[in-house]
Amino acid sequence: MRSEIDQERREIPGFALPEPDRSRLELIGRTRAELAETLRKMGEPERTRAMRVRQIWHWLYHRGAADVAKMTTLPADLRARLAHSCAIMRPGMVAHQRSTDGTRKWLLRVAPGQEVEAVHIPEADRGALCISTQVGCSLTCSFCHTGTMPLVANLRAEQILGQILVARDQLGAWPTPQGARLLSHIVVMGMGEPLLNYEATFKALRIAMDPDGLAFPARRITLSTSGVVPKIEACGRELGVGLAISLHAVRDELRDQLVPINRKWNIAQLLDACRRYPAADRITFEYVMLDGVNDTDADARELVRLIRGIPAKVNLIPFNPWPGAPYACSSPERIRAFAAIVVRAGYASPVRTPRGRDILAACGQLKTASERLRPSQRPGRAAA
Ligand code: SAH
Ligand code: SF4
Repeated sequence: MRSEIDQERREIPGFALPEPDRSRLELIGRTRAELAETLRKMGEPERTRAMRVRQIWHWLYHRGAADVAKMTTLPADLRARLAHSCAIMRPGMVAHQRSTDGTRKWLLRVAPGQEVEAVHIPEADRGALCISTQVGCSLTCSFCHTGTMPLVANLRAEQILGQILVARDQLGAWPTPQGARLLSHIVVMGMGEPLLNYEATFKALRIAMDPDGLAFPARRITLSTSGVVPKIEACGRELGVGLAISLHAVRDELRDQLVPINRKWNIAQLLDACRRYPAADRITFEYVMLDGVNDTDADARELVRLIRGIPAKVNLIPFNPWPGAPYACSSPERIRAFAAIVVRAGYASPVRTPRGRDILAACGQLKTASERLRPSQRPGRAAA
């Protein structure tokens, strides 16, 4: 209910942000080697360059500095040169909602006219941040709200990292060790298909994993994919993060409809890639429970038959409805019966408790507010 929602709508001044100044170099999202190269171009001598990179890295990702002037361990002249030619990415915050269960959703502007959502899910002794990798999605899974949006843009590494940095700012979770409990896990399950934007996603996650900075260990990161088979192996080899597979159906004919990327890489090819995944014990199969569509006992039995031999978890997700969705969630009894078959086959099969439902922050409901409005209602569009 709307009245239950503690909603803050904080428009940043002027809905349309000025075009970012491309002459200024973004420091967030660059590798250490790229930062060293920037310093070289700025005339920093070779003997001090590596130390300066270490210091800047520490300020950016350990202390959360959003302003070069705060980097007080750097010599004043270097600070002045950096302030003149460099920028430190923070997405603009367009809106902030807090659910009755503590879940927070931030609508973030990563570029003019481009917004994504990030969701923070707190628990007693940990907190997960669900981040986006694309504005919209090029895929059209029929039960997913984001899937009704066109793909507007692939996020760059700094825009992906920017979501983590804003969350840390908002949670007061800097420097890193103190903040680690509030924001301990990253799930790449927001808007978009990460493996269709893998270069920027992998780069951002590598930076997030760096022990001298944000320091998320690979075991605290999970990347969810609808099944971009050719990129699954690289995800394991290069990152070693946990993998969540959006399976949702056990027959190709049905999965072709629910998760259309199945027409390109079918269930057998997807499971084959899972069997070869270097961190196969870190795979979760996600299965959205759709009433009368994919939720029979026979489906459950076929599910356990298909994934036999993979030391995976199964995650049953009650379908989260969104306005106009063509599905309903399976009944609690049906979900229990389905789960019982999976559990009997030896899989721990937690049914995911939806979080943040009252603010449309649950899995697969993310779609930016500006997209939800009719075009004529969108800020800035009327004049266009
Ligand atoms: N594109 C990636 C990651 C984002 S979607 C992927 O598809 O895996 C994150 C998870 O939410 C996926 O498992 C997706 O299938 C699921 N999901 C999408 N819409 C949903 C809905 N309405 N209810 C429940 N889960 C949903
Ligand atoms: Fe895209 Fe994932 Fe939604 Fe499918 S479920 S439309 S891949 S975001």
